[in-house]
Amino acid sequence: MPNYDFDLLVIGAGSGGVRAARTAAGRGVKVAIIEDRYWGGTCVNVGCVPKKLYSYASHFAEDFKDAAGYGWTVSEPEFDWATLRDNQRNEILRLNGVYNRLLEGSGVQRIEGRGVVISAHEVQVGEQIYSAERLLIATGSWPYIPDFPGSELCLSSNEVFNLPEFPKRFLVYGGGYIATEFASIFKGLGAETTQVYRGDKILRGFDEEVRGFVQEEMQQHGVNFFLGREILRIDKHLNALAVTLSDGRTLEVDAVLCATGRRGNVENLGLENVGIKPNSLGEISIDANFCTQVPSIYALGDVTGGPQLTPVALAEAMTLVHNLYSEEENRVMDYSNIATAVFCHPNIGTVGVSEEEARKVYKNIRVYTTCFKPMRNTLSGNPSRCLMKLVVDAASDKVVGCHVVGPDAGELVQGIGIAVKAGLTKADFDATIGIHPTSAEELVTLRSVTRT
Ligand code: NDP
Repeated sequence: MPNYDFDLLVIGAGSGGVRAARTAAGRGVKVAIIEDRYWGGTCVNVGCVPKKLYSYASHFAEDFKDAAGYGWTVSEPEFDWATLRDNQRNEILRLNGVYNRLLEGSGVQRIEGRGVVISAHEVQVGEQIYSAERLLIATGSWPYIPDFPGSELCLSSNEVFNLPEFPKRFLVYGGGYIATEFASIFKGLGAETTQVYRGDKILRGFDEEVRGFVQEEMQQHGVNFFLGREILRIDKHLNALAVTLSDGRTLEVDAVLCATGRRGNVENLGLENVGIKPNSLGEISIDANFCTQVPSIYALGDVTGGPQLTPVALAEAMTLVHNLYSEEENRVMDYSNIATAVFCHPNIGTVGVSEEEARKVYKNIRVYTTCFKPMRNTLSGNPSRCLMKLVVDAASDKVVGCHVVGPDAGELVQGIGIAVKAGLTKADFDATIGIHPTSAEELVTLRSVTRT
């Protein structure tokens, strides 16, 4: 066997790459990992982690208001962007250190720089060439910004966390996860917030009822929606941006966040040197064992075009390492029933199929819904409501979808995700005694069918 520098050479130290490197090293595999930007990748540096911190920050706006009905006198709260931004930065720096120590502690060699694949077993970083029996591409994804005049004036999610000034008038372009979360966050932090989306209802792909409900709730929280419109151009006017929409209207704002999807991060990766051709979305094609068309080169995570979610990349990494370096039988990654949350206000937690998908897949379904004012919102006078929904396959009685919109919906649906993954029935839900008084108990007390 040729004498390689490493058994496994990972390109990209994000969620998937780091997990693969660490777990492989833990099995005695000689591993190195190459990173040119952020140790910890998008999730830790410009994604899930700082986003959740900002989501917490923006929820305080509502909490201060709610406190009055519970007898608290709160003086007019003031928000300081610099404090939030800098505290967030320090926390991310701390996490970068944790990632580095975890890698070093597990015996993974860290290499800083852009890795360029030059052959089926070699990667060049600067002047240095490293060889390995296997290469793993885990370079993640990168924000995609459509091309229109002035699009270079847009922020992407890479920049939005560390803005020097807080934008008093904030415009978000897109209707997906990032756009909807950031519209909620900046509204909560006090910006006059507008969301522009080309479709007629945000969050395409989610349950229709959930989409409509969230949009209404966000509107009630003060987010302005311009739907069925695209951005035609953006012009810089002194300190403001003039955003012209496809209906001819011009909006003046301080910042525009373009959240129009993320594409595989494959630029200057040298894939052409080994004949790997990503598709137009920058996605690398792999087989069920994460192998590309080159037998020694593997890929996983966002760059392969699967669900762009950290827990998916982590699970893929562990499946790959198990299959490559364990004597046990190969595992197959199961992509069914992945629970997910959107941290907009109110939060969405969802697992399984939407009502619309269920109608296509199952012959007969039963849908149970409830929409109510959470107890916490009684004394406060907060008008926000909560939506809960179960979708049941009538033939098997299995709960095949659960959708929750309301406070901490992600926390709640993580637990329900186990029940749905385990294939539990509506009768199992009914036999479960609720925890009182909680909002979550509604999910085990839904008795009347709303629709079939
Ligand atoms: P999404 O795919 O969720 O949404 C992209 C949005 O941009 C859609 O509304 C889409 O419209 C719109 N769009 C795409 N192309 C254009 C265009 N050319 N012109 C105008 N609008 C366009 O991507 P995001 O960027 O929001 O997030 C990327 C991924 O990151 C998500 O899919 C998700 O997997 C992950 N993520 C997960 C989070 C979580 O778990 N909480 C949080 C944030 C991100 P249309 O619907 O019409 O196609």
